[in-house]
Amino acid sequence: MNRTKYDVVVVGGSLSGLLTAREIGSRSSISVKVIEADHEIGTPEHCGGLVSLSGLRKLGIVPSSRSFRNYITRAKIYSKSASFVVDARLQDVVAIDRRELDKQIAFQAQKLGVEIATMCSMKTVSVGPKPGETRDNNFEDGYTFGVHTVEGTVYCKYFVDARGLSSLISRHRTGILPSGQYEVFAPWIDPDTVELYFDSDKYPGFFAWIIPLGENKAKIGVAGKDINIVNSINSFLESKGSSYSISRKIYAPIYISGPIRNFIDGHRSLIVGDAAGQTKPTTAGGILSSGMGGLLAGRAIVNAIEAGDDSFLGNYPNEWHSLFGFEFKKLMLARKVFEHLDNKALDEIFSTVSQSTLSRISQNAEFDFHSAPLSLILNAKSTSRIVKGLLESKLRKAQ
Ligand SMILES: Cc1cc2nc3c(=O)[nH]c(=O)nc-3n(C[C@H](O)[C@H](O)[C@H](O)COP(=O)(O)OP(=O)(O)OC[C@H]3O[C@@H](n4cnc5c(N)ncnc54)[C@H](O)[C@@H]3O)c2cc1C
Repeated sequence: MNRTKYDVVVVGGSLSGLLTAREIGSRSSISVKVIEADHEIGTPEHCGGLVSLSGLRKLGIVPSSRSFRNYITRAKIYSKSASFVVDARLQDVVAIDRRELDKQIAFQAQKLGVEIATMCSMKTVSVGPKPGETRDNNFEDGYTFGVHTVEGTVYCKYFVDARGLSSLISRHRTGILPSGQYEVFAPWIDPDTVELYFDSDKYPGFFAWIIPLGENKAKIGVAGKDINIVNSINSFLESKGSSYSISRKIYAPIYISGPIRNFIDGHRSLIVGDAAGQTKPTTAGGILSSGMGGLLAGRAIVNAIEAGDDSFLGNYPNEWHSLFGFEFKKLMLARKVFEHLDNKALDEIFSTVSQSTLSRISQNAEFDFHSAPLSLILNAKSTSRIVKGLLESKLRKAQ
């Protein structure tokens, strides 16, 4: 590690950190370094990779032939004994290879002059004097942070925490669920249909999923409160058919409790992506919302540095909340209702979703903003009656 001073250091070289760095790198006058603990950008890949092409465009990404995996045209949603199908052809949903996508963003950033160090884990960060405070000899004028890594210390004026859930967990947040996802080859995989399986006994608070990748391959996973992930995913696979072959297993937590209160953590210190809880409370999807967190933080830092005015940093939380705040509030509400539904209620709701509701969802829904289709289902008269009845009976039992 030769150079030791940068305007900005981003810790975490995955989606959100790389997008922060790419935005800052677009200004040649601002120096930025990304510090990544793993030996390779994009590794280990834990993401399902489900996102819309329009979501990726908002992040300034057109998937390359290496990062694109598959087009998704339908979603089939199951409860224990009912199901419904959503036609997703208008939603432009794709499965992408996150390892390759992250490398693609890293390359965009590198071409702009961003430095990336892999196998360079941050151990701690220390904070130097604020403007006007007594100067500590370890910090040169204006360099606010000392980022201590396994390769030595780098100093920077702005610090970005993009360490994903490992950062969030260290802040003692609740809302983390265990999950497992296998890459599977099997003849029974529907080539272009995402399948979600709800079962309040087997996957409490979440579901099992199949994301097809083409050529009879899929990412198959489960998550749920207090469940044994290995047993759950094995019995899910057995339930689908005896013939399958697993090429990869990954276990990673997911987060479902909404954004943290402050994306700006003190003077010139910003938190982005999963580290800031920017994943959807319903599906834990975060490619767009976490990625956008990184991108907006990068833009806010550029504006603050160019104007010499740190109040521009406030644009980052403001703009993120204006894009996702209301949507996430509605998703949190939907999650609260969902957590009370037992299998009987899920069966009743799933069997009463009408064709007209499904065609309205297919025609109008945006994949990355799914509170609207959820509201259509939850606000249907039959569903409201079921949910109301269930909540009343729970209240009676609790009294
Ligand atoms: C099982 C699973 C399936 C998912 N499927 C989908 C999906 O289909 N669609 C979707 O939209 N979203 C999905 N997500 C969510 C999505 O993967 C995340 O929202 C996204 O990866 C967040 O990116 P991030 O950069 O904020 O964090 P992360 O991708 O978690 O990256 C954090 C980075 O920080 C690095 N790091 C951590 N600590 C340090 C340190 N001390 N020093 C240096 N580097 C460090 C890590 O090595 C890592 O590279 C899924 C998540 C999981 C777990």
